[in-house]
Amino acid sequence: MRRGQVIPIKSEKDLLMLKRSGQILSSVMRKVQKSLRPGITTLDIDRLSEELILKENALAAFKGYKGFPATACVSVNEEIVHGIPEPRVILEGDIVSIDLGVNYQGYFSDMALTLPVGKVDETKKKLIEVTRKALDIGIKQARSGNYLSDISHSIQSFVEGYGFSVVRQFVGHGIGTALHEEPEIPNFGEAHLGPLLKSGMVLAIEPMVNVGTWECIIARNGWTAITKDGLASAHFEHTVAVTDKGPVILTE
Ligand code: MG
Repeated sequence: MRRGQVIPIKSEKDLLMLKRSGQILSSVMRKVQKSLRPGITTLDIDRLSEELILKENALAAFKGYKGFPATACVSVNEEIVHGIPEPRVILEGDIVSIDLGVNYQGYFSDMALTLPVGKVDETKKKLIEVTRKALDIGIKQARSGNYLSDISHSIQSFVEGYGFSVVRQFVGHGIGTALHEEPEIPNFGEAHLGPLLKSGMVLAIEPMVNVGTWECIIARNGWTAITKDGLASAHFEHTVAVTDKGPVILTE
C-alpha cells in the first residue's frame, strides 16, 4: 500500500448497498454468460451487458473510466485484461474473459470470469480451472487478522504449483464508493506482509493467470494487455467483504 493511504472500512449500510450492487452484477453476468457461443462478437457481449445493467437501474462502472470506451472488458485467448469490444467473431476453441463493473447508486462491484467456447484444448481447460480455484483460495485468506499479502501469496503458490504464472502488471484492489480504492492486491508476493485485514474492508480479488510467461505487452489501442509469448491467459474476480464471520462474496 502506498504510504499515507488508508483502507476504507464500510458501514453496515454501505455493505448492504454493495451487496445489492454485487447481486445486480452477478445476475447480469449469468445472463451474459449464457449468450456466449461461436459466431457472436465481443461487441455483442458488450451491448448485451450494457442493456442488462441499465435495465437494473444501474450504471456500467467501466464505461468512461479513464476513457475506457465500453461497458465490458472482453479478452480472448492471449488477451489478459482490458479487451475492447469490437466486431471480432468468437470461435469454437476460444477462451473468453468477461470483466464487468456495476455502479448502483454510487456503490461499485467488480467481477470477471473466463469461459471456454465449445471444445477447448486441455491446456486452456486446465488454465481456467486453476485460475478459478486460485480465486477461491485467495478469497479464503480474506479474513480479519490475516495480512493482505496472505491473499497474494496463496494465489501465487497455488498457480505456480501447476507451472502457470501470475500477471505482475495488474493487481486487485479495494472497492466501495469508488471502483478502485486502497489497497492494491497483487497476486504474488511473500506471506504475512502489508496491512492487517479488518472487518468492513471490501476487496476485489482478481487473479490473472498465464500459461507461459507472466510478461505482457499493451496493444496499440492503449488498453488491451496481451501475453508477451502469445499463450493463453485467464481471469477470475469477485468483490469480497471481510466480515466477523469470514469472507463474504458480494458478487454471487
Ligand atoms: Mg477489478
